[in-house]
Amino acid sequence: MRRFALILATAAVALLVAAAPAAAQSTYTSPAGGGAGAPETDSAGTGGASAGMLEAEAKAEAERKAAAKRRAAAKRRAAAKRRAAVAKRRAARRAAARKRARAKARARARARAKRRAQAPAAPAPTVPTDATGHVFPVAGSNYSLGGPDSRFGAGRPGHIHQGQDVSAALGTPILAPTAGTVRYVKFQAEGAGYYIVLAGAGEDRDYVFMHLRKGSILVEPGETVGRGEQIAQMGSTGRSSGPHLHFEIWVGGWYVKGGKPVDPLPFLLAWRG
Ligand SMILES: [Zn+2]
Repeated sequence: MRRFALILATAAVALLVAAAPAAAQSTYTSPAGGGAGAPETDSAGTGGASAGMLEAEAKAEAERKAAAKRRAAAKRRAAAKRRAAVAKRRAARRAAARKRARAKARARARARAKRRAQAPAAPAPTVPTDATGHVFPVAGSNYSLGGPDSRFGAGRPGHIHQGQDVSAALGTPILAPTAGTVRYVKFQAEGAGYYIVLAGAGEDRDYVFMHLRKGSILVEPGETVGRGEQIAQMGSTGRSSGPHLHFEIWVGGWYVKGGKPVDPLPFLLAWRG
C-alpha cells in the first residue's frame, strides 16, 4: 500500500514535472500570442511614417523629373545652337567658295585676254578653205603630213593610230577648221598631252587636237569659236617625240556612244586646197 502511494506520488511528481514545462510554455506562448497584435500597431505606426516618406519621395521624384526635363531642354537648346553654328559655318564656307570661284573665273578671263593679246599672229593671214568652208588646222604652209606612220590606222604600241599627224614648228598656230563649240580642254600626261575637243557647228563631227603646247590654249570648254580662229599652238606635250598636231575627226561625237573616228587625211587634203 505504501509502495503504491509512493508510486502514485512519484507519478504525481512526474506529472507535475511534465506539466510544468507545458505550463511554462503556455505562459510563455501567451505574450507571444498577445504580441501578435503588436506588429499591427507597429505596422500602423510604420504606415504613418511611410506615408510621410512617400510624400517626400514623390516630391523628390517630381523634382528629379523636372530637373531631367530641364536638362533635356537645355540639351535640345545646345544641340539647336550647335546645328545653327554648323549651318552658319557651312553657309560661310559656301559663300567663300562662290567668291573664290568668281575670283578664279575673273582671273581666267583676264589671263585669256592677256594670252590673246600676247599670242603671236597667225603667220598665214589668208586662210584657205575648201568648198565645205573648212580651214586647214595648221597655219601656214610649212608643215608635213609625214609618212605611213603618221596615217590614220597606223600601228601604235597597244592601239591603232586614230588620227593624222601634221608636223610643223613648235608654236605654229592651231586653227579651228570650222566654227564650233569647245567641248573639252584637257591634259593627259601619258598620251594626248594638252588637247582640245571641238564640236563643229551644224555638223555631226568632233575635231580633236592633241600634243598642244603648254600654256598656249586660248579657249575654254563651252566657248564658241569662229572658223579659222586660233585655238592653241603646236606643241609636243604628252607622248610625243617632237612638235606635231595629232588631229582626229569623229563622226557622231568623240568617245560617245555611236561615235567613231574617221580618216582625217582626205578632209585635210581637201581643206588645204
Ligand atoms: Zn598622232
